[in-house]
Amino acid sequence: MCDHCIDSVEDAHHYFFTCPKYTNFRDVLCQTIQNIFDCDHIFDLDLLLYGSPDHGLNINTQTYIYIEATKRFI
Ligand SMILES: [Zn+2]
Repeated sequence: MCDHCIDSVEDAHHYFFTCPKYTNFRDVLCQTIQNIFDCDHIFDLDLLLYGSPDHGLNINTQTYIYIEATKRFI
């Protein structure tokens, strides 16, 4: 369960896409990834977890920055 949302399971999708606790961090992540792709791109869990072969470690780095910023795992 998510410690912020009473009725939500805290799975990867909830953490990255729906939990209101991380909205500000998520907005930064989404905007940064859109800038990397220089256009709208599918912003999904596969992209965040596995990155993009066309962008080296850029996506993975942004995912790591999000995780660090949310302080969810410290
Ligand atoms: Zn939540």
